[in-house]
Amino acid sequence: MRILLLSDIHANLEALQACLAAAPSSDRVVNLGDVVGYGANPNEVIEFCRQLGGSYVRGNHDKAICGLSDMEDFNPIAAEAVLWTRQVLTPDNLEWLRSLPQGPMQADDIPGTQFAHGSPLDEDEYVITPRDAVEPILVSQPALTFFGHTHVQGSFALDSEQIEGAHPGYLTVGQSESVTFPLHSGLRYMINPGSVGQPRDGDWRAAFAAFDTETQVVAFCRTPYDLKSAQDRILDAGLPKRLATRLAAGR
Ligand code: ZN
Repeated sequence: MRILLLSDIHANLEALQACLAAAPSSDRVVNLGDVVGYGANPNEVIEFCRQLGGSYVRGNHDKAICGLSDMEDFNPIAAEAVLWTRQVLTPDNLEWLRSLPQGPMQADDIPGTQFAHGSPLDEDEYVITPRDAVEPILVSQPALTFFGHTHVQGSFALDSEQIEGAHPGYLTVGQSESVTFPLHSGLRYMINPGSVGQPRDGDWRAAFAAFDTETQVVAFCRTPYDLKSAQDRILDAGLPKRLATRLAAGR
């Protein structure tokens, strides 16, 4: 099975469309949460995702926007975007958001793999460093976890002795590109496809990943998108300016 992994779209319609256009063909889409929040097209992105189908886990922004959690951990800019998004979402889309399941999620036809927004031990926890990844990797029954939340594309791999973090080494800065990452049997992994709509690893291109369960190869992908249009929509919506400028920096 070929799985397309999307995470942290954050209502960035231009980035989502670019990812779908650049993605290899897939049998299943798995979305790792934070469909909305920050970006200016929450209704359009949710409708796009609903049409796309596939499997989902919810993100912290998804939860806050539909009132399932408070905004205690949100900075003022993120909180402003939550309130704005809550206001503009249609009741139907808000209801869809509320129905997204809590991770980690497993699918019967994808054995040995689980999907989470943050850590599989806590959906709101950030797994940033190899040290953060050790416990969730060791405690998890599935050997492979796909996760999001940090907006940083990359992998953690644990063998019998040590854990190693890695990021794909891209050769270009503004083109569509993918880097393959073959999984090795006997190792345990946490893999982040990166953020579609608000990358924070210094690369402004939209990020996603594809996983072939037969060959056990992950492809990390980046693709350019209409950044100016996404920024203009954020500014036109009256959302904080920083949410537009940070997209260009990939921070
Ligand atoms: Zn996010």
